[in-house]
Amino acid sequence: MHRLQLGDFELGVFSDGTYPLDGGAFFGVVPKVMWSRKVEADERNYVTTGLNSLLVRTGTQTVLVETGMGNKLSDRMVKFYGQPAKLLDHLAAGGVAPEDVDIVINSHLHFDHCGWNTLRDKNGKIVPTFPRAKYYAPEGEWQYARHPSERDSISFISENYDPLVASGQMTLLKGDEEAGIVPGISVKTFPGHTAHMLAIIINGSPGFERARLQAAPSGTTHETGALAPEGTTACYISDLIPTTAHVDLTWGMGFDLYPLQTIESKKQYYAQAIREKWLTVFTHDPKTPWAYVEKDESGKMMVKPT
Ligand SMILES: [Zn+2]
Repeated sequence: MHRLQLGDFELGVFSDGTYPLDGGAFFGVVPKVMWSRKVEADERNYVTTGLNSLLVRTGTQTVLVETGMGNKLSDRMVKFYGQPAKLLDHLAAGGVAPEDVDIVINSHLHFDHCGWNTLRDKNGKIVPTFPRAKYYAPEGEWQYARHPSERDSISFISENYDPLVASGQMTLLKGDEEAGIVPGISVKTFPGHTAHMLAIIINGSPGFERARLQAAPSGTTHETGALAPEGTTACYISDLIPTTAHVDLTWGMGFDLYPLQTIESKKQYYAQAIREKWLTVFTHDPKTPWAYVEKDESGKMMVKPT
């Protein structure tokens, strides 16, 4: 199990299992002769893809970032992806019961990121998996999910979020809630994979983060030059940089709806994450769920495991 201390916070990675994705789709326009040096494909060209959720214990709150693929896939989708459905078992093994989770945050609403938001009870009724939790997801994603393009409509399972929005248990976020969902945890929109995907930024020295936010007007906080203490910030960057094999600016997924924006968003992310030595959390990496990304002398992105 992957765990570490981030300032005052304790972080743990909990996986919903792994699933197969077409290697070509996973690496977009990058030729196989290049990506196959980093990732192995099977005889059907599938690569093994992880489903990493991040659990943050702040001392007062238990926060779960992303809820994997869940157990509500259609038979047709199970044929493609299987349905590992391991998250609840892995949380239980780590001593976390569904009732313990105070907050759930989804970076976006594709089926492999919010699947355990809900489950079917024994009567077939959709109920929240984490009964006490307050759920958060980006409003723009939810609006889009109601009328998605033909290209990614297969990626939305409305039972993962609509019942929670209807009951008021899910709060929809505008996208730059810097002041924090809880002290030390904030979100920022990074378009590219989708238009409204959020990164979840975790700062384990919330006192410092509050001071920085107070020091500058909203929207300019990260230009003040005030650096977070080293080793106290992590970022769940979600599908903008899904694995350690995708750290290069131009290595985006074929699934990205706005590939040129992916490149711009990565530049913006690295400008801050490298300067402030953020720990990057990789949503789909089956082996290395988190690492530091650095730039070598030639400008190439390098992964430095923890
Ligand atoms: Zn996605």
